[in-house]
Amino acid sequence: MKDSPARITLEEWDARYAQLRAAGLREPWYGGPLRRHVDEGGDYRLLRLRYDNSVAALRLWNFLLTEEDRLREARRQGRKLVGAMKDLGTVPVMAYALGNVTAFYPDGAWWIPCVMELSSKDLEIADSLGIDESFCPVRAMLGAFLTEAHFPIPDLLTCNVGATCDDFSAIAQRLNGLGFPILWWETPHRRKPKVGQASRLSGSLGEAGFKLIPTEESVPLPGGLSAPREQVDFVRSELERVRGAIEELAGGRLDDAALRDGIRVANRLRRVLAELRQLAYSAPVCPIPALEMLIAEMLALHFCSDREEAIRVLEELLEEARRRVGEGVGPLREDAVRVFWVNPVADLRAMNILEDCGGRVCGTEYLFSHALDPIPEDLPPMEALARTALADPMVGPCSDRADRICRDIQLFGAEAVLVSRIPGASHCAVEGAIIHEMVRERLGLPVQEIEVPPLCDAVAPTIRTRIEALIETVKGRRKP
Ligand code: SF4
Repeated sequence: MKDSPARITLEEWDARYAQLRAAGLREPWYGGPLRRHVDEGGDYRLLRLRYDNSVAALRLWNFLLTEEDRLREARRQGRKLVGAMKDLGTVPVMAYALGNVTAFYPDGAWWIPCVMELSSKDLEIADSLGIDESFCPVRAMLGAFLTEAHFPIPDLLTCNVGATCDDFSAIAQRLNGLGFPILWWETPHRRKPKVGQASRLSGSLGEAGFKLIPTEESVPLPGGLSAPREQVDFVRSELERVRGAIEELAGGRLDDAALRDGIRVANRLRRVLAELRQLAYSAPVCPIPALEMLIAEMLALHFCSDREEAIRVLEELLEEARRRVGEGVGPLREDAVRVFWVNPVADLRAMNILEDCGGRVCGTEYLFSHALDPIPEDLPPMEALARTALADPMVGPCSDRADRICRDIQLFGAEAVLVSRIPGASHCAVEGAIIHEMVRERLGLPVQEIEVPPLCDAVAPTIRTRIEALIETVKGRRKP
């Protein structure tokens, strides 16, 4: 049953769902009306959002909102659970390479205060443990561990440290102190390979007319980055420790052949997502709204606890996007202002607000671009994974991240940039300002910053005013 693409409320979804069912809609086992996630799961924020009206979007939301059930089912079936923390996109690729392991990110608790509209008390529990609102919303993870209300306690917890933000380091250490053992593995702060000065006035010239030559091996990383060989080797050795721990947990060998297969499957998902992003962010009429695209991108992190199903969910969404692009239709106006979005939002409603104001998302950098880039398949798998981990935008200098953002802005043809700050987040205290400056200087585009708390209702008028100002600025710059 095909209707014109539109963004609809939960109430409108109730009616549409009934119609779809009457027309013979077939769904996977986790399907059903979205309303039940409010009534049974307490996901009250759903009452305030606007959704894409496609069957593909319905499946995407149901897949996202049933992850807890999947994790509990995995535990019941005797699968081993790995709680990967902070690396965003590397350890789950390893874990899923073994048939009896399911991996997920407890970091995802970040969104619980928003989705449950603060009814879950996770933030109060974090407060009581001395992790107050001077930390970013990831502190909700502490409450989630103590109540066990949102996910089962993993059999193995890993946490990436070293170049990690202060918030996460402190919270994970607190978790460790509360009696949850953690396998720490380190990624150093990524630096450029060293160069030295050699003979005068020949070849590429340095500032003083000297040729610059590398003094250590430079290794290319996904995303157009590079790092010295010694850093890649170090991360590889750290990941070897993670491999050993997963093998011990699963009682089986995680050999290179299995890892290669795991990388191939992860890349399959990343390719589907790449085409979806390309269509959603560059088609003349936006085929899929920002909120559904945010969720689609998040599936790349740990497959929402079911790797094969995550690919099927994205394939269906891609199919819908292709159809809409082919027909030149979409849920937003054709003249919507093309905005590049930097950082994930603590309140999902902010994505709706941009579109309510006449904008559309054309490119994103949600702190995990390394989970979207293909993992090299022509290298030994542990080397490929080490390079991927080192390409994390959060472990390198902010200028690398800003470079990537500038490139992607040009790729998707964005007309403006929105940097959403995360309250309390140590990673973005000044990073937003650096990105802001670099985008303005290099590309001459208008940039706006907003701060989005887990529930943004109280500041929604301010957010709206700022976004409207950005939209009006772009419209004023467009040629008549
Ligand atoms: S949002 Fe920023 S501060 Fe919070 S855990 Fe993620 S990287 Fe760290």
